[in-house]
Amino acid sequence: MNYIVHYDICALVLYAVTIVVFCIRKRVPCRRNKAFGFMLGTAAVSCVLDLLCVFTTSETVGRFLKMLCHVSYYVTHNLITFAFMIYVLFLTDNFSGRTKGFKAALYAPISVDLILILTSPFTKWIIYLDDGGAYTRGPLQPVCYIISVYYLLFGVVYTLRNRRMISTQVVVSIMGFVGMTCVAVVIQFFNPHLLVECFGGALCIMLVMFMLQNQDDIMDSVTKMLNRSTFANNCMINFSADNAFAVLLIKIPDFTLLMKTFGGRFSNNLLRSFSEYLYSFVNLGDGYYLEDECFALTFFRDYDRIDGIYREIDARLSSDWKIGAVDTVISAMFLRIDCPADASDVETVMDFIEQFKQYSFSDKKLYYAENINLYDRKRRFDVERAIERALKNKTFKVYYQPVFGSEENKIVSCEALLRLMDDELGNIPPSEFIPIAEQNGSIMKIGRFVFEEACRFIRKGYAALLGIEYVQVNLSVVQCMQSDLTENFVNIMDRYKIDPSQICLEITETSAAYTPHIMEQNIKQLSAIGIKFALDDYGTGYSNMNYLLNLPFKYIKLEKEITGKALNNEKARIAIESTVAMIKKLNMKIVAEGAETAEQVETLLEMKCDYIQGVYFSEPLAEKDFLKWAESFNAINLKV
Ligand code: C2E
Ligand code: MG
Ligand code: MG
Repeated sequence: MNYIVHYDICALVLYAVTIVVFCIRKRVPCRRNKAFGFMLGTAAVSCVLDLLCVFTTSETVGRFLKMLCHVSYYVTHNLITFAFMIYVLFLTDNFSGRTKGFKAALYAPISVDLILILTSPFTKWIIYLDDGGAYTRGPLQPVCYIISVYYLLFGVVYTLRNRRMISTQVVVSIMGFVGMTCVAVVIQFFNPHLLVECFGGALCIMLVMFMLQNQDDIMDSVTKMLNRSTFANNCMINFSADNAFAVLLIKIPDFTLLMKTFGGRFSNNLLRSFSEYLYSFVNLGDGYYLEDECFALTFFRDYDRIDGIYREIDARLSSDWKIGAVDTVISAMFLRIDCPADASDVETVMDFIEQFKQYSFSDKKLYYAENINLYDRKRRFDVERAIERALKNKTFKVYYQPVFGSEENKIVSCEALLRLMDDELGNIPPSEFIPIAEQNGSIMKIGRFVFEEACRFIRKGYAALLGIEYVQVNLSVVQCMQSDLTENFVNIMDRYKIDPSQICLEITETSAAYTPHIMEQNIKQLSAIGIKFALDDYGTGYSNMNYLLNLPFKYIKLEKEITGKALNNEKARIAIESTVAMIKKLNMKIVAEGAETAEQVETLLEMKCDYIQGVYFSEPLAEKDFLKWAESFNAINLKV
């Protein structure tokens, strides 16, 4: 027979390219990749053997060698569709825990196939050499085709039955693979001299590699562990398949500090060596790097081992990790989530993780999901609806809390504080609804509303008559990041004919500590037109002083817990006194928040705090009540 080998040669080129790309690309060492590697390797070897079969047709080549080539080709060629099926199983990551019947349906046909092929030199059932030494198909040769078609159909049925566990891209790629393979097989079956099967296979495998084997999407480039979105995706697959599993989350707060101290290259090595260490506890592919110093391992059985693994990792971390030239110990915190007992969907698992990330280090090392105070998703939803209602029905209220000036001995300013009284949920504190509004974006409308309300309040002029020089308005970090913030505020002030010096914007220390460029630009622009800035909640734990020096703050507001300690804690007293001295030297004014008692106010006055705010003077009050209160307070105080 005169074979047409051009397709096989093209297939060889395609395989070479695919193998090179597969080898040089970053890869997660998981079962799915191993299955792909097996399929690719088998198919490429089969292509080489196909060509060898053609080149050994000459009569000068011995019968044994010819037979060896043909049998080897048949073995590898028939293994391709089986390898494909295994790959499909790992794509859904649902291979373990299969029934005996399923495993028999998977392995029996290929076993029969291989036995028939390997015994063929004696039985002549699949292939044999005729008297002239030419390759001839045996009577049972169609069995090989039937088994190949069986695996392809198996893959199709399995994919379609599990399609809710896999993405459309995977389904389309698998269907494309099967479709193209079938076309090539049919062509070659009817035209045995036209060797297109290998070419079809090479095209299909290349397609799968570019469509499904894109590792960048699923793995973290530094740790080579699966990434956060793959973690979420795999959890979803397991929830859909009703697979019970457990997650062990490992949070290593020390990593950030170590990385900052030892630099980028070292950090990568540290992350990599730690992830390699973690892989020793799980099957490859069940380890994840979730960023923010958090790693996760998933377990599908041996749950009893998990608490032991936690202890082992903890002991390993706390017994000398070599970092650069230093041997140090590292502290970790662990969270165990049993699914579906603790969480029955991905969102809940992620909520637990997010919440756990906020936990700071304590003596307790292993947390269980039940220890985590999960913010109720229903409550979040209800609060979101309450925010929407309040914006729509204009029921948000701005209250004002007086700020006492020690030098002036009267109320000189006030802070605008938002109140949300909902008909259904009652009073919702800002500490609860502001973060939710920041997350869903409604803070923009809320912020504009508060600013406008403050301008309207100033515009009426009563406050100024009482000696209130400016109103303090809280600004969310989300607002600070908007490029049109300055323009919006200027428009509002123009509309109400307000002088910018009558406004003081407050920014919390937490947001000022990570000042992005746009925020700095906004602050500087607003400051240039005369708006004052205050740094709110100073002392909440950020030692970086850059923002204090770089940003044009006029007031520094001491966090209320620190003020609270001024009275009975000698160290806090010294700290406040030095802070006040420092702030004054920097030409800024200090405001103490949260003064609740007469003694506290006295102490703060002794410490030379410029301004004092707190319930000792008054709680935040509705506009009219505030004006009435301030009028009588200033009248009495100024008389004294
Ligand atoms: P903040 O800006 O630090 O406001 C001071 C908070 O301390 C207010 O809580 C106030 O009611 C409370 N406070 C005042 N005096 C005392 C006292 O003597 N003792 C104690 N324990 N607390 C006192 P509030 O109104 O619940 O607001 C909490 C936080 O919510 C505010 O902290 C601010 O960060 C945020 N917030 C409030 N209104 C707004 C707003 O309109 N926009 C934005 N972005 N944030 C706001
Ligand atoms: Mg404030
Ligand atoms: Mg504050």
